[in-house]
Amino acid sequence: MKPMGSIPPAYADGQALTIGGRTVASLIGEAGDTPMFAYDLAAIERRIATFRAAFPGVGLHYAIKANPFAPLAAAMASRVDGIDVASAGEMVRAIGAGMAAADISFAGPGKRDREIEEAILLGVTLNLESEAEGDRAIAIGDRIGVRPRLAVRVNPDFEIRGSGMRMGGGAKPFGVDAARAAALVRTIRQAGAEWRGFHIFAGSQALDAAAIAETQAATVALAAELAGGAAGAPPPLVNLGGGFGIPYFPGDSALDVGAVGAALVATLAARPRVLGDTNFAIELGRWLVGEAGVYLTRVVDRKVSHGEVFLVTDGGMHHQLAASGNFGTVVKRNYPVAVAHRLNDPAEETASVVGCLCTPLDRLADRVSLPRAGVGDVIAVFMAGAYGATASPQAFLGHPPPRELLVGGPLVGER
Ligand SMILES: *Cc1c(COP(=O)(O)O)cnc(C)c1O
Repeated sequence: MKPMGSIPPAYADGQALTIGGRTVASLIGEAGDTPMFAYDLAAIERRIATFRAAFPGVGLHYAIKANPFAPLAAAMASRVDGIDVASAGEMVRAIGAGMAAADISFAGPGKRDREIEEAILLGVTLNLESEAEGDRAIAIGDRIGVRPRLAVRVNPDFEIRGSGMRMGGGAKPFGVDAARAAALVRTIRQAGAEWRGFHIFAGSQALDAAAIAETQAATVALAAELAGGAAGAPPPLVNLGGGFGIPYFPGDSALDVGAVGAALVATLAARPRVLGDTNFAIELGRWLVGEAGVYLTRVVDRKVSHGEVFLVTDGGMHHQLAASGNFGTVVKRNYPVAVAHRLNDPAEETASVVGCLCTPLDRLADRVSLPRAGVGDVIAVFMAGAYGATASPQAFLGHPPPRELLVGGPLVGER
């Protein structure tokens, strides 16, 4: 038997799983079939309220790559202050969700000329990942006669201690090295483009409040140093990055967001004068939507091999790659899973939940303790609201895409 992560508190009670007050059977009925993702809008709204209370005066941006499902993105657009995108495709989705172009920023390496042109035409801010990208944006703006909105993504010399995925510190494809960032700001301003500020992202999936607070303080200090020094101008906006993690695995505990907020409020109250008129924002993906999502998949076959029980489901890693341990984790650890109609029944056996792909990688839960489940029963995989449907190799093996449902939203849809 191997341990698994804890079921998120919002879903942990009762004999049978409910999501947003709805039974699993009714959700599957509405979506049409398993496998499916259900996203609980009320759970996302609670997260947003928690953020607002902890970070007064700080903007909240949604990193749409965490979950771009159209009804969910539309719900986010009316509840956050900005959407951060990483491709022209996501930019179009953010606009389609109803976000004003002025509140969209486009980061990410490898932006094509066509994407840069589209962003400039729409009035979306480009977070520049290199000097060459800045040169191209300025030239394209000149050619089409539209003043580009440009921010400088800085590759800081630090990263969040213990963060899950390293995206800052040392040699990186992301951002301009801190030592060269001020020079790029000068180039932008001399070219007559609108300088929007700095974007400084130092890591992801951090659960340690003190480590995040330390990084945010270092980020504010770096922005002040760059603004006060060679850049020669205060930034209108500093995007402080995000990195708020969620407790996927055994032993993880939830991030103390109140503590992060209290520390940032103190940091900002004492910020250097050069940042006096600057707005600050935090960009979050998984912390906003990850715990709100549940992947529901039905047992198609129950088999025993060499004494081990396998629950073979109609879902798998082509929809929920992360649960199989193949998305940004080194060692496979178990996401929380449950037999949906026997949520709190005592465990009766050790079983592995596998998907329908013909590869040993397709294991959603490895030797976990569960009540006995049989053919037709629904297995719930929790922590599935971020980096699921669109971060999984859906085309691999030619199975259909998952169904998706926003529970409690004004719009319900399926891709
Ligand atoms: C992916 C990404 C995010 C969101 O990360 P989460 O861990 O989901 O919060 C935020 N900012 C940038 C620049 C990203 O690339």
